[in-house]
Amino acid sequence: MSTQSLAVEATPRTDLEPFQTRRTFAIISHPDAGKTTLTERLLAAAGAIQSAGMVRGKAGARSTRSDWMEMEQQRGISITSSVMTFEYDGLTLNLLDTPGHSDFSEDTYRTLTAVDAAIMVIDAAKGIESQTLKLFEVCRLRDIPIITFINKVDREGLSPLELIDEIQGKLALDLTPVLWPIGQGVDFGGYIDLVEKRVLNPQGKILAEYGALEDLLDVEELIDNPVFTNALETLEMAQAMLPGFELKTFHEGHLSPVLFGSALKGVSVAELLRTLGDWGPEPRPQPALPAPIPPSDKKVSGFVFKVQANMDANHRDRIAFVRLCSGKFARGMRLKNVRSGKDMAVSNPMFFFGSNRELAEEAVAGDIVGIPNHGTLSVGDTLTEGANINVTGIPNFAPEIIRRVRLTDAMKTKQMSKALNDLAEEGVTQVFRRMMGADWIVGVVGQLQLEVLSARVAKEYGVPITFESLGFEVARWVESEDGEELKRFIAAQKTNMVEDRNGAPVFLAQNAWWADRAKQDWPKIEFLTTKERH
Ligand code: GDP
Repeated sequence: MSTQSLAVEATPRTDLEPFQTRRTFAIISHPDAGKTTLTERLLAAAGAIQSAGMVRGKAGARSTRSDWMEMEQQRGISITSSVMTFEYDGLTLNLLDTPGHSDFSEDTYRTLTAVDAAIMVIDAAKGIESQTLKLFEVCRLRDIPIITFINKVDREGLSPLELIDEIQGKLALDLTPVLWPIGQGVDFGGYIDLVEKRVLNPQGKILAEYGALEDLLDVEELIDNPVFTNALETLEMAQAMLPGFELKTFHEGHLSPVLFGSALKGVSVAELLRTLGDWGPEPRPQPALPAPIPPSDKKVSGFVFKVQANMDANHRDRIAFVRLCSGKFARGMRLKNVRSGKDMAVSNPMFFFGSNRELAEEAVAGDIVGIPNHGTLSVGDTLTEGANINVTGIPNFAPEIIRRVRLTDAMKTKQMSKALNDLAEEGVTQVFRRMMGADWIVGVVGQLQLEVLSARVAKEYGVPITFESLGFEVARWVESEDGEELKRFIAAQKTNMVEDRNGAPVFLAQNAWWADRAKQDWPKIEFLTTKERH
């Protein structure tokens, strides 16, 4: 394909604070919508990789179970796709990967707490799919601005108006077109770029430029083509129906610019980068207690949104991925972990691009640095220059699968407890202790997490474990404004109560019916499906 469609005119960006040049984002989609292909294309379009195809080789293991397990066994590979930092048009783009498999939604949710914007990729033939919907809802919780990329226009699919209707209906999100397709499938003949006001063919060659859309009615070569006239008509209908673009509404998460394109053919990818670069938000103030942290704050702060352990089996290393929220971080700085109150010297922080890591000398709000550590940092921890600030909004989700851990070798209790704690810190699983008895109980959101858990405990800690059902299917953190009532509840439900790693009480129920019943019987008790990690 011609490079023309990938080239984006550089716009000068001057007088900006370094953090204002950061765009930290994720791509959300249902498996198979084209996220991997689009990632490659974005990197190629920004000149960060030579050709599309390089990323796939490394991060390629996608959603199939066997691929994933194999990838996990070769630890070190999965990290390559965790963060990709690249330069584009005077900006530094940090792309955070969200694992595609639905069983890893917890990890995904937490990753989304570390981004300022998301690209939502939708398959034009399928519209909104289940995983897209779930991920979108997480973005909405934080009002994350979303750019919608409707992919695979080179194939037959739903019409642009049907797609817009479906997205608006299912997501209750306003859309505004930025690029409009000319035909679809075999008829696909290019697109209208509403920002640059021009018509391009699929290879990115400019066919016509215009001041107002009506001007195009005078371009004979276009008007002779019924596919084009139809596209123009539907575009006019869409514009009559939809709001115009407004940066503020986009940044508030209520309006999504929509582009139609084809990741596979590289169509509209340059425009997607342009949209992200020109309109994408700078690092946002980070929700925190006692007050949100503005990115312009001079003091360094950040939080751990992901921990990946044992990437190198020989060194038992563990990397905490920290999203910086403010200040200018420099290598060697001492930072305080607010949770433990302990200081640490951050002497070898890292930046990532694909499989490459390099020492991070300096980083600013919006950047992601990896901090190697031996278990001192957990998901949800806040790091500061000393201030007692706690970043909020990094949740644990109530597990949907609850199992007792059985150790097949009784001599290894200590290793097992270390393994479970380590992996709980990493966020792979949640660990609970029974209030009565000494059982180890794990909770996960998806079945695959259990398999990963036992595979990793066996391989990395040499402890074979199995799981057995306890007859519980529902877990809820319990809280109450009435402390005495909470005590009474816990006493009455003793056999159903466990504690999480932080000692918070969790109620287990056989199924949803029993959970509902408890709710009715105990109106003063709150049953929570998420709990902040602190
Ligand atoms: P992911 O699971 O979201 O990462 O999806 P992939 O990027 O692996 O794409 C899934 C499949 O869709 C692959 O076979 C891709 O080649 C194909 N695909 C991706 N983008 C396009 C596109 O724009 N047009 C067509 N026809 N196929 C595409």
